[in-house]
Amino acid sequence: MATIGFIGLGNMGGPMARNLLKAGHEVQGFDVVKANADAHAAAGGIATRTAADAVKGAEFVITMLPAGEHVRSVYTGEGGVIGAAGKGTLLIDSSTIDVASARVVAVAAGQAGFPMLDAPVSGGVTGAEAGTLTFMVGGPEQAFQRGLPILQAMGKNIVHAGAAGNGQAAKICNNMILGVAMIAVSEGFLLAEKLGLDAQKLFDISSKSSGQCWAMTSYCPVPGPVPASPANRNYKAGFTTAMMLKDLVLAQQAAAAVGVATPMGALAQSLQSLNAATGQAGLDFSSVVNMLRGGSGSAGLS
Ligand code: NAD
Repeated sequence: MATIGFIGLGNMGGPMARNLLKAGHEVQGFDVVKANADAHAAAGGIATRTAADAVKGAEFVITMLPAGEHVRSVYTGEGGVIGAAGKGTLLIDSSTIDVASARVVAVAAGQAGFPMLDAPVSGGVTGAEAGTLTFMVGGPEQAFQRGLPILQAMGKNIVHAGAAGNGQAAKICNNMILGVAMIAVSEGFLLAEKLGLDAQKLFDISSKSSGQCWAMTSYCPVPGPVPASPANRNYKAGFTTAMMLKDLVLAQQAAAAVGVATPMGALAQSLQSLNAATGQAGLDFSSVVNMLRGGSGSAGLS
């Protein structure tokens, strides 16, 4: 069993670290929010006071942080992972961040003698809790093989996507597809509503027809057809509008950097930006359906 330093014990990192504990690893956890570190200790982990303490003596370091700037500072800043980790520690960043930051940090790690993987996830908080996340991994093959058993304790589907940064590339492409699909499904259900077609009937037909997609069958944006979807709990996230917007912005930045036209992705970004501006940034991203209905995203909430 390994000693693992885990930095960022939020909605995703908290349950991921708990699955590592369940698998028998020793997990030294750090979070700037003390309550999150305390919850980690209550689950049987070790809560540390600094990031440097979390990585001391660890064979693996995992980070699960909000955005690129946090990842850059946690790895390369003063008292950061690269300065504090022991020789040869495998560094794994599972946050969703821009491809450029992922590659910059991987180069800095490599220059200091640390192998590094970018390993963002999909599957949300439910997947993090159940240990069924999908990991999209960028980095050298040898580092991937070494990290695999650790990732398997937190996920089910672990794919090596290629060199450093390719995990992040896979993640933003996937989420741009999801962001566009959610709006398409929302429009379909809103049109059905106005045409007098019952949402359940549309679901029964479309979920078995060519309109079928994950946004419909696992995450239906209207209440009823998929009981576990956030629509049934007043759009409580789940995956917040703010997080989806972040990924759509990352996708647009990446598309601009390589000169690729992604007009549907750009439109999805605009619509989710409007949804956030109507006060729904903290709700699930499927709340976009209510904004499209013509009110604020909170229309219809009790
Ligand atoms: P979160 O805000 O709940 O967790 C991030 C944690 O990092 C917080 O607890 C915060 O206090 C901590 N943190 C911030 N700066 C820190 C620092 N310098 N040192 C230590 N801790 C620090 O967010 P989350 O939902 O857990 O998401 C984490 C990452 O996973 C994001 O990059 C997100 O895009 C990605 N992600 C989230 C989901 C989801 O459904 N929530 C799904 C897939 C991917």
